[in-house]
Amino acid sequence: MNKESIYGLTFDQLEAWLMTYGHKKFRASQVWDWLYRKRVTSFSEMTDVKPECLQLLAEHFIFQSLNEHFKQESEDGTIKFLFRLDDGNLIETVLMRPKFGLSACVTTQVGCNIGCSFCASGLLTKIRDLTSGEIVEQIIRVQHYLDQEKKDESVSHVVVMGIGEPFDNLENVIDSLQIIKDHKGLAIGAKHITVSTSGLADKIYEFTDTNLQVNLAISLHAPTNELRTRIMKINQAFPIEEIMKAVAYYLDKTNRRITLEYILLKDVNDRREHALQLSDLIGDKRHLTNVNLIPYNPVDEHTQYQRSQKETMLAFYDTLKKQGINCSIRLEHGTDIDAACGQLRSKQIK
Ligand code: SAH
Ligand code: SF4
Repeated sequence: MNKESIYGLTFDQLEAWLMTYGHKKFRASQVWDWLYRKRVTSFSEMTDVKPECLQLLAEHFIFQSLNEHFKQESEDGTIKFLFRLDDGNLIETVLMRPKFGLSACVTTQVGCNIGCSFCASGLLTKIRDLTSGEIVEQIIRVQHYLDQEKKDESVSHVVVMGIGEPFDNLENVIDSLQIIKDHKGLAIGAKHITVSTSGLADKIYEFTDTNLQVNLAISLHAPTNELRTRIMKINQAFPIEEIMKAVAYYLDKTNRRITLEYILLKDVNDRREHALQLSDLIGDKRHLTNVNLIPYNPVDEHTQYQRSQKETMLAFYDTLKKQGINCSIRLEHGTDIDAACGQLRSKQIK
């Protein structure tokens, strides 16, 4: 039997699981306290849990399903972890140090099937979805690293922007978000968690209905279908109007703002007319929308794209601002260490 990670169960799932084996409900609280507060690394350290209960847990679950394969540290403090999964596959997790805290960028799939033309992750098609345990454990491994370094630091933010399309693995992503958010679990507030999708419109409705209250970001990257299809073939299945309809549903139901991500690609989508088209598209939703302009991280295999000039990026930003659109230019983290999503993994595999 392939054992699952102990970090993959939501609190309710663990409670129900223990009860089916005749254990008391409160054991779940004890176990979670050891996992997420005291952050032990083996079942044997859970000294107040009955030995029969520990034995049962050890028979069914493993403590560590991710092993550090490689680590790369950037001058700005960004650390990129390459983890080996139980089946030998490699995934990436990044720890960034923005001004407001410590942010972990997590992976949701081994590879990605969406195949956006600018992305390093899409170069390798999806091998499998990650389990909820493998998603949560990425943050645990990063946190254990911080604990070992005795820096008295905690991961305060999570961005689901690593390798993979989270909405193509929605069920496991939802479970993992519940564990990450739970005040008994990783206790990272919903407002500090952001999930990014390439725009699987049908799943945006489903995600909205879960009422998780975490932030949503949509990788739009182009203001017209013609252009978006050219750079993201998923646009054929979910064109912009379908996405914007789903976004309107999200805004209406959640009362939260939405982020539209827009990579600036030199001479492809960075002209003034594109900024004007983008502001038209946002239209009367501008008070609920943030546009995040992303400097393109060059990927060796995608030589057709270059990063826009700094002046072009600023001009694009100015045009949006003048149209009353909230927008920001994403600060980069760890550019000296293959920061583009999926790059480290694809280079290690090559
Ligand atoms: N699959 C999801 C989440 C992972 S990608 C999605 O596409 O949204 C996270 C973000 O990184 C997306 O906005 C994606 O478009 C962007 N991205 C991918 N490759 C990039 C690159 N080379 N440079 C800059 N951003 C990139
Ligand atoms: Fe997949 Fe996102 Fe990369 Fe597109 S940008 S290939 S959806 S990881």
